Amino acid sequence: MRSAKPKPLSCPQCQGTTFTRKTTTYPMPMPDGRQVNVGRVAVQECAHCHHLIPTKAGSEKISRAMAAVAQLFFGS
Ligand SMILES: [Zn+2]
Repeated sequence: MRSAKPKPLSCPQCQGTTFTRKTTTYPMPMPDGRQVNVGRVAVQECAHCHHLIPTKAGSEKISRAMAAVAQLFFGS
């Protein structure tokens, strides 16, 4: 833990800097074209275009979910 000051967040789609923090279902596109919905992910939602950016905790949850999905795809 050495993040003393949070870096300003800006939206990759509209460069907006106003975000609302929420917990929502985050759709993850899969390599084969399917989509996996990861439930209850912590995100910042852009106030302008509603683009969702996972928080650090949200990203970690998505990573765990994707690992579980990979098991389904590539596991025995
Ligand atoms: Zn935006």
